[in-house]
Amino acid sequence: MSNSFRSLHPDQRVLMGPGPSNVHPRVLSAMARPTVGHLDPWFSGFMEDLKELLRMALRTRNALTFPVSAPGSAGMETCIVNLVEPGDKVLVAVNGVFGKRMVENVVNAGGVPITLDFAWGTTIDPQQVEDALKANPDVKILAFVHAETSTGVRADAATLAEIGRRHDCLVLMDAVTSVAGIPVEVDGWGIDAVYSGTQKCLSCPPGLSPVSFSDRAVAAVKARKTPVQSWFLDLTKVMAYWDGSGGRSYHHTAPVNALYGLHESLVMLAEEGLENSWARHAAMHEELKAGLAGLGIEFLVAPESRLPQLNAIKVPEGIDEAAVRAHVLDRFSLEIGAGLGALAGKIWRVGLMGQTAQRSSVTLCVEAMRDALAAQGR
Ligand SMILES: *Cc1c(COP(=O)(O)O)cnc(C)c1O
Repeated sequence: MSNSFRSLHPDQRVLMGPGPSNVHPRVLSAMARPTVGHLDPWFSGFMEDLKELLRMALRTRNALTFPVSAPGSAGMETCIVNLVEPGDKVLVAVNGVFGKRMVENVVNAGGVPITLDFAWGTTIDPQQVEDALKANPDVKILAFVHAETSTGVRADAATLAEIGRRHDCLVLMDAVTSVAGIPVEVDGWGIDAVYSGTQKCLSCPPGLSPVSFSDRAVAAVKARKTPVQSWFLDLTKVMAYWDGSGGRSYHHTAPVNALYGLHESLVMLAEEGLENSWARHAAMHEELKAGLAGLGIEFLVAPESRLPQLNAIKVPEGIDEAAVRAHVLDRFSLEIGAGLGALAGKIWRVGLMGQTAQRSSVTLCVEAMRDALAAQGR
């Protein structure tokens, strides 16, 4: 039998979609370093360093801070299955795909979701959250998405967390797209449970989900009356692996080389400085906005709640949305994202996340869009 299989050589794309973002060669080469046993004494020290770097990125001193060995959705599920017991009420503010996904997770965990819907493309109204919590004093958890990648909308996380705390809720925040792209202050805002992802503004390959739990949240997990419905994501079990103080014991085999990549990306973030990373994302957004204005392209989201790292822009009248994406991918090796749900065909989602948030990507994107629109007679 002849072997027709070959080694892989994917094209080098410029990734300006909703994630993954471009991965720096330093991260890729860190991932190519020797695999060690995941209970190796050296690896134990490495895990402690990684946890400390994550605390830097999340602005927290939470002891329970570690990367879940699975993508962002698993971080979401970790937070929900551990905090929600059957019958628990969870107020979820929904203004896009990921808020909806939270509701599904609450239902699967046996919780009772109270859904507060906001039009896609608009932000979460804190007053309505406050009113809903007043009307439902037995809500245990307030959950929201900080950076809604499906629409490019930012939530006023500080205000929402303050309201949740005042109503005696645990505050759960999706920070998958926000971490390193816009300010995230887990301790400063009083967030009790947070999850992120590696492939957005941290610019790693997909597959890991940093999570962090406050002492209040850990106490809630420890006080559970019912077992956690997931074996793999059960924090009471995972903690024994990620907590170095009691001696590590086997839970699952950590994705050793993927963790090297996350470590390197966080080292690069520390070198740049977290605030500088936020400022770079904001500056590149301004440049993209100016370039797109020259093409007559408008934004979906009101200026005050726009995410710099995820630009939802309107497809001009008479333009074939999918043909533009195909054109820029084919001619410029540039990936941009499509709209989801009700916004499909109406918007593009242009990511400026992590390593992608640099001037060369902005210039390429504006030129490629100009060319694609011209190809349709614009
Ligand atoms: C990407 C994303 C997720 C899910 O992450 P995966 O790694 O795709 O599972 C969750 N929430 C938000 C806001 C995201 O952007």
